[in-house]
Amino acid sequence: MENLIRGIVDFRSRLLPQYVDRFKELSNRQTPDTLFISCSDSRVVPDLLVSTDPGDLFTMRNVGNLVPPATVLGESIGDVSEASAIEYAILVLNISNIVVCGHSECGAMKAALSATATPNAPNLDKWLHHATSAVFRLDQEGPLDKRLERHNQLSQLNVLVQLEHLHTYPIVAERIRAGTLRIYGWWFEIATGGMFFYERGRRKFEAITEKSAARLIAQLTPKTKPPSKKS
Ligand SMILES: [Zn+2]
Repeated sequence: MENLIRGIVDFRSRLLPQYVDRFKELSNRQTPDTLFISCSDSRVVPDLLVSTDPGDLFTMRNVGNLVPPATVLGESIGDVSEASAIEYAILVLNISNIVVCGHSECGAMKAALSATATPNAPNLDKWLHHATSAVFRLDQEGPLDKRLERHNQLSQLNVLVQLEHLHTYPIVAERIRAGTLRIYGWWFEIATGGMFFYERGRRKFEAITEKSAARLIAQLTPKTKPPSKKS
């Protein structure tokens, strides 16, 4: 805790002066264009990894970057926290992108693969059921990258499963159909600091480099303008 308190003092003296105007501007409104869904893991730091500032990303983090699917009525079958973040991001903030970002060495993926439950953690066990279909898919279809360890293979497939879960929310599916929302699967490799994107045509995660970034950016066709932002 001491390092956190000292960190606040350091932030106030060293960095806050650079952000004063930005925070003042953001005090009554925010206009992020991306909902970034990632793991709670301390080694995954969204704003650091994509070089964003306050106000740029609407972030939802949980154990395993999971999105409980919705019923046909759009109600989450699991915890409603994630569904609330999705609804707020889409309906209030009018975000136009959703990124689900998994990562290597994910403890949630290791737990999901484990045959034994985590002792005294009934909620964690229940939560990880949302990764069960990724485990099933790994068994049935095999990994996207055979060179990876099994828990990392699962982590990559888990990103794809959570993208599918996003599609079960009618407001997500409708906006994708209307061309006002795009969803992306990313994967972060902790040991190298590399970020990968899922390329559907190749059925694999490709590194985001200067070269591939140029190609990815070129593929971003203009979208239909979303409704005006409310806050
Ligand atoms: Zn994780």
